[in-house]
Amino acid sequence: MALFDNKDRTNIEELGEFGLINYLTKNIKLTQKSTIKGVGDDAAVLDFEGKRTLISTDLLLEGIHFDLAYTPLKHLGYKAIQVNLSDIYAMNGTASQVTVSIGISSKFPLDAVEELYEGIYLACDNYNVDLVGGDTSSSKQGLVISVTSIGYADEKDVVYRNGAEEGDLLCVSGDLGGAYVGLQLLEREKLIYLENPNIQPDLEGKDYIVERQLKPEARRDIIDLLKEINVKPTSMIDISDGLASEILHICKESNKGCNLYEEKIPLDPMTFETAREFNLDPTVCALSGGEDYELLFTVKQADYDQIKFKMDITIIGYITEPAAGCNLITKSGNQHPLTAQGWNAFKKQE
Ligand code: ADP
Ligand code: MG
Repeated sequence: MALFDNKDRTNIEELGEFGLINYLTKNIKLTQKSTIKGVGDDAAVLDFEGKRTLISTDLLLEGIHFDLAYTPLKHLGYKAIQVNLSDIYAMNGTASQVTVSIGISSKFPLDAVEELYEGIYLACDNYNVDLVGGDTSSSKQGLVISVTSIGYADEKDVVYRNGAEEGDLLCVSGDLGGAYVGLQLLEREKLIYLENPNIQPDLEGKDYIVERQLKPEARRDIIDLLKEINVKPTSMIDISDGLASEILHICKESNKGCNLYEEKIPLDPMTFETAREFNLDPTVCALSGGEDYELLFTVKQADYDQIKFKMDITIIGYITEPAAGCNLITKSGNQHPLTAQGWNAFKKQE
């Protein structure tokens, strides 16, 4: 698990800031038509030819958002890009560029930064986005990564959080809770390792949930699928803080209520079993866990036939009038007000 025990390594100090920037960006090949100028001037120049421009940014701090004890740097780079692209897809847009800013200790070995960028470039490649800029600084408080993603959409295609209407179907992509349960597993193995470094982490058979935590994939495929079947969601958000929190965002912004059915919430069997091993309620993991990066959206009832048999989309409830409130209907048929104890970076520190 120790990541930095490589002795013969190049120091970033020797390279200097500009040497490092050049080293990290020298192989960039721009692929987006909208990128006029990428890295190398005071600003990138983009041209979206009359489309709406979408911009989203995220800040990731070591010790708050990630733990290098069990996060391989390549995965971290990959994830930093994915969580950002997810926000562009949640607007029903096409992601086209990112900027990446890093704060690193000058003691950080060069091959570690390289690994981080391997993940960053892999994500950019897989999702067809150009890296067009960033900033580089030294940091005394651990590793800092900030990604800004840029995308575009036709004005008529942009989907906001506030468009849900009464009777709309509440839908979610993929399955939920896996990233949170995966995190519990990694935290447990870290503790065991710290107590006895001779014991190797036992993550066997848990690949899926570990990957859900360490290597999420933004759901561009869902955006493509919805376009293909001609369904435009009435509202949409990506699931970063847990299902409950995101549903409440949509209902609040749309000024509506909802009924969410516990039995409909999609859970992977491994998520379910492992949650049980940890004495966690799998439903709570889905509702209040975080970092699934699935898409939550509402569609008109008229679109039911188009989405009902789509493998990776589950209808989990429907939108109601605001006075009805936001409710969870449990498996036993009881109704509870939905609350967001949303997992978030602040809570995790307590
Ligand atoms: P400035 O002094 O204007 O901030 P820099 O010397 O920091 O410019 O950056 C030079 C160029 O390199 C710019 O195009 C900037 O966007 C890019 N850049 C700097 N750091 C990074 C990074 N970590 N990743 C990608 N591009 C970067
Ligand atoms: Mg700079």
